[in-house]
Amino acid sequence: MTESRLPTPHSLLANAEIIAVGSELLAHDRLDTNSLFITEQLNALGVEVCRKQVVGDDRTRLTAAVGQALENAEIVILSGGLGPTEDDLTRDAVAAALGRELIFSEQILAWIEELFRQINRKMADINRRQAFLVEGAEPLPNPRGTAPGQWIDLGSRVVALLPGPPGELKPIFMNECVPRLEKLLPPQVIRTRFYRVAGMGESDLDALIAPVYTKVSNPATTILSGPSDIQVHLRARGRTAEQAETLLQAIAPRIEALLGDRIYSRNGDLLETVVGQMLRERGATLSVAESCTGGMLAQRITSIPGSSDYFSGGFLLYSNRMKTELAGVPAELIEQHTAVSEEVARAMAEGCRAKTGSSYAVSTTGEAGPESATGAPVGTVFLGIASEQKTDARRISVPGGRERVRTLATQIALDFLRRRLMAEG
Ligand code: AMP
Ligand code: MG
Repeated sequence: MTESRLPTPHSLLANAEIIAVGSELLAHDRLDTNSLFITEQLNALGVEVCRKQVVGDDRTRLTAAVGQALENAEIVILSGGLGPTEDDLTRDAVAAALGRELIFSEQILAWIEELFRQINRKMADINRRQAFLVEGAEPLPNPRGTAPGQWIDLGSRVVALLPGPPGELKPIFMNECVPRLEKLLPPQVIRTRFYRVAGMGESDLDALIAPVYTKVSNPATTILSGPSDIQVHLRARGRTAEQAETLLQAIAPRIEALLGDRIYSRNGDLLETVVGQMLRERGATLSVAESCTGGMLAQRITSIPGSSDYFSGGFLLYSNRMKTELAGVPAELIEQHTAVSEEVARAMAEGCRAKTGSSYAVSTTGEAGPESATGAPVGTVFLGIASEQKTDARRISVPGGRERVRTLATQIALDFLRRRLMAEG
């Protein structure tokens, strides 16, 4: 083949598409995990996955999907549909999309027969289907199963057909595909930065850093937002580690400066991990007095192995009576200010700290909705922190439903504690 190979002038932007084949993957209880593995490996080679799809065992749809993928990407990886049965259509579809024949391979037939000999079984006739190669394809040996993979080099494109079982796909990908891709791709390196951020919502965060990151496409910036987790990812691609690092340096420090101490983790650690480390470093202990978060704070803190080093325990003070009986919150204080008030949040934290003897105590009291019991607007939460030095409280207003209010209040309480620990050093 004489067409230009992968290292074209655009090769730094070599893109991949993944097609996961199999009707079972369209069911409600099955996930395409192969593409996650393949993506991770391709990224490590400096290749971006620009699209992936799941296609059922349908010849027409699959042929169309392969054709389209070949128009859009230099690297097309298919997983699944290489079995011996009628519904295994990947070989046929790829051949049809390329306008090529399927050629019977004696070499593959010998591999399959040998495999059956090793397990003392007679090869069924249908397994002969697995010995068909797309014209021009190179078979990729599969030591763990009957379906070999196939590698098709089209000059400016490559197509790989891999068996669906992850235990077969992974070794073939690593042993056969990665070395072939490494030969084709120019040296290309990805360098990343990863920040976890607390203290602002996704849209405020985007408004803050968009003026920096939208000016460049490399590094690519992604903001991922979950109910109590905001992540910023920067991915730079370069020919060398230095080049990728230089590209990152062009914007990463500016983004870091804008986010400041809202960044609580650069290595993927969760807020409860970070807070736990800070407590441990200070030799401090923590207790909690939770009302509206109903134990979520304690749950997150104790989800970290070794949290017994710093977490004393706490109280679930849901009713006013419990606030008074267990944490000593004066009944008059509740009557005067209601349970959802700064005064009560402070008294809960102080009472909890007095009972547990911990260095820090964090309290939560709020209206998670949908109804308000105290008259405070739904979403109003007061957080308290007591330590030997002082007691702090803050009021937050969290929009959204009950779960969101509770989840976000928990996150903000942890961040409140993180900031307090930073301030007290
Ligand atoms: P196949 O190669 O289509 O015969 O797939 C065989 C088996 O591999 C399926 O029944 C699944 O259990 C598994 N499998 C296929 N595709 C995937 C995928 N994309 N992710 C995870 N498992 C898969
Ligand atoms: Mg299948």
